[in-house]
Amino acid sequence: MIKIIFLIIKFIFQILIEIIFPCFCINCGKKDTLLCCNCYEQIEFFSFSFDASKQINYIDEIIIVCKYQGVIKKLIHNFKYKSVINIGDIIARIIYRSVNFPSCDLLVPIPIHKNKKSKRGFNQSEEIIKSLSKLTNIPYENLLIKKRNTKSQMSIRNKEERMINLADSFAINESAISQILTKIGHESTVILVDDVITTGSTLNECAKILKNNGIKKVIGLALAQK
Ligand SMILES: [Zn+2]
Repeated sequence: MIKIIFLIIKFIFQILIEIIFPCFCINCGKKDTLLCCNCYEQIEFFSFSFDASKQINYIDEIIIVCKYQGVIKKLIHNFKYKSVINIGDIIARIIYRSVNFPSCDLLVPIPIHKNKKSKRGFNQSEEIIKSLSKLTNIPYENLLIKKRNTKSQMSIRNKEERMINLADSFAINESAISQILTKIGHESTVILVDDVITTGSTLNECAKILKNNGIKKVIGLALAQK
């Protein structure tokens, strides 16, 4: 009985949410969807091999789904700067539909600083991973912490400056790592997931911490490259 009442309340609540916050396609404005089929078809997917220079030597492989332009650019802008949290699920579905998902033991989000998280209300990488984890049945864990609130990497053009900006800004989540290694073992593969990649410096810094703490292989997966 209590379960039925709970489901009715949940149903009414969902209807109210849809009335108060109706959703529209972020690209063309079509009602009832955040990304309509027509706009989805405009996305330029590409098979991509990232130029793995010496400066991103901690990453074993990088997979990028599409270019940072058009519909994808609007999607990410609304996600990160207008805090439309449900876009995380759409991004996860785009990635899942277009990537031959590599086998791995764990998904790990790129952390953001707690000040940035409280301002935005969520960590965009974690929101993508929550949905990806459901789609792939691969568990996820916040294995990394952002110690310093650094400038946005996207606002810095010079590659050297980007690396200086990130230096010593990430750390391992001490309370999670030993438990995770017991579960997945030392021969484990982890996928780091991010929305946008530029030079790969952020992924590389995070991969360095993971490898220094016992993870064997790290794959970087991003929706788009800028
Ligand atoms: Zn549309």
